[in-house]
Amino acid sequence: MSTITKEWTIEKIRKVLAALDKKTGLKGAELPIKTGNAYHRLGYFSYKPEDVCFYFSLAFMNNPRTKETAAIDVIRHEYAHYYVWATNLTKLIPHQAHVWHHGEDWKYACKMVGADPIRCHDSANFKDRDVDEAGAAALAAAEDVQEFNMLAHIKKWNVLPKPKEECERLNRWLKEHLPAGLYFEVGDEVLQREKGFGSVIDTYPEYNGRQMVMIRFEDGHEEVFGNRFIMKVLNGAIDFTQYK
Ligand SMILES: [Zn+2]
Repeated sequence: MSTITKEWTIEKIRKVLAALDKKTGLKGAELPIKTGNAYHRLGYFSYKPEDVCFYFSLAFMNNPRTKETAAIDVIRHEYAHYYVWATNLTKLIPHQAHVWHHGEDWKYACKMVGADPIRCHDSANFKDRDVDEAGAAALAAAEDVQEFNMLAHIKKWNVLPKPKEECERLNRWLKEHLPAGLYFEVGDEVLQREKGFGSVIDTYPEYNGRQMVMIRFEDGHEEVFGNRFIMKVLNGAIDFTQYK
């Protein structure tokens, strides 16, 4: 076993979880980590309210035939289960009952945390995945994982994030095709019927001419509305023309 760890321990596993937390903004490393020597189950994440925890089989992780890449993938696999639970991802990507815990929501989480989206660990998949000590250290430090705070994004917009280029493409389209009263940019003044006047502090593009608009109202509170549920102040007058 080429390894940075020589021997996996709870503390070393926790470090790998903490490195993932740094990229995701979550707090998986704060959860209890249980270990055992089972071979039928290499790991699991439990979200039972009275027993939220990770479990890892040290017999598997410390087996001389287990590669470092495989051990780290098992940690990331379970972290992806935690990710789905912690971000409530299933609300945005319903998982199909027949695939149980390994549905599209979990696969999406795997992509976000660099885990193999494969239900059962298969050592054959790691046949060619050897890393030297620096490579193992980089994986343990989650250097290959993109930094993204999913929880903050979902809390703010209540939709899945789109790739940056897709946002830019959609924003260009919206700007070109929407009437001035329906297209919003940061700094625009708006009126919302119940909440009053405010100004746009952020926007997020959607499909079909829709745009989500975050507004800071005069009382200081911030709230997101669809572009069809707010009115723009255009040249000092409220534009009612697009309002439904
Ligand atoms: Zn699993």
